[in-house]
Amino acid sequence: MDATGMLHLLAAEPTLLPPAPADADGGAIEDRRRENHACLRCGAPADTALIADLGQHGKRWLDLCFKHFNDVRREA
Ligand SMILES: [Zn+2]
Repeated sequence: MDATGMLHLLAAEPTLLPPAPADADGGAIEDRRRENHACLRCGAPADTALIADLGQHGKRWLDLCFKHFNDVRREA
């Protein structure tokens, strides 16, 4: 699955993602990165966290390793 496919999947199944606080800021993202989540795409330890604003589903965490973070950032 490429990054575009993943973003489409997330749009179709946003409830698969953990909800992020509506007021999450840089500090919340730093905390999330320290919580040892697994990369959504490959299962490796996630080095980064992104917040996706999914409209009616609110904000959701995207935990990604560096490689996939870069892939998604290019596509998003
Ligand atoms: Zn990964």
